[in-house]
Amino acid sequence: MNISAMQKRHFILLDVVPFLGALLGIVVLARTGVQAVDLVGLLLMWFVTVVGIELGYHRYFSHQAFQVRPWLKGLLVVFASMGGQGSVIAWATNHIHHHRFSDQPQDTHTPLHSGEGVLGRLKGFLHAQVLWKWSYRPPLPDKFALWLYRDPIITRLSKTRIYYGWVLLGLALPAALSGLWDMSWEGALRGFLLGGVIRLFATQQGTFLINSLCHLAGTQPYNSKDNSRNNAGFALVTLGGAWHNNHHAFPKSGKNSHAWWQIDYGYGVLKVAEQLGWVWDIHTVSQEDRQRKLKSAGAITKTRAAGISGGEAPHENTAGS
Ligand SMILES: [Zn+2]
Ligand SMILES: [Zn+2]
Repeated sequence: MNISAMQKRHFILLDVVPFLGALLGIVVLARTGVQAVDLVGLLLMWFVTVVGIELGYHRYFSHQAFQVRPWLKGLLVVFASMGGQGSVIAWATNHIHHHRFSDQPQDTHTPLHSGEGVLGRLKGFLHAQVLWKWSYRPPLPDKFALWLYRDPIITRLSKTRIYYGWVLLGLALPAALSGLWDMSWEGALRGFLLGGVIRLFATQQGTFLINSLCHLAGTQPYNSKDNSRNNAGFALVTLGGAWHNNHHAFPKSGKNSHAWWQIDYGYGVLKVAEQLGWVWDIHTVSQEDRQRKLKSAGAITKTRAAGISGGEAPHENTAGS
């Protein structure tokens, strides 16, 4: 199967089907009701998936923002694969390419080159959110992420069949939890739909909003040479990934929060893992480096006046400014 056919297969199986499945799931769950065990399954699977995506695929495999023990490296691939966003090598290569050409015409999923006006913005949003995945020119992995190909753990775990196996595992685990708890097939169906399909769809859309909304609207305290934005509104559900302008300004940092009020649970999870000896060498950014990249002296003044240490200036920019 060639690359284009594989992209289209992935788009149908893991973008279109989860969307339809989530809609169907809501209808079915409205009839069956939801039990506490289903919510536990949802919460656990959500946490595992976003840890895998944001800390694994993103901060580690794409940016090497910290070092990690080999067993945890493998586990992060498994966790993230259950999110159905592509294999680790494909995801990380696309993301490194995105940083290299962010919001330029070569950027695979920029929302900024789909036309002018409201319609252009809408087309750009949908393109960056999900439509780009239907067909795109994949960046050459040996040009953007050679180390991933040289790591036997990564290459073994990200083979296509094995990757799809992890996706299925992510659907089966919450089904097994609710089914065994209730000792019923209806319980298994509820777990499959809530912790499996709906969790898969929701975590995908959360990540994809970083590609779309976080390059269209929000605050932009730093001069990151692109249109990346911070969005406090969904920083919680993306484990801090939505502080996207902070991230584009300092991609290698393991900490996306630049002010006390910017919640970045992802960094909190990393600090716990560091205490346990599972990760080390977490990159962070000094206050001097942050202030150097702030967009203007005015921004620095406002930040200081607001008592925010090297944080985000309280000015709001909209897309295209
Ligand atoms: Zn971005
Ligand atoms: Zn990144």
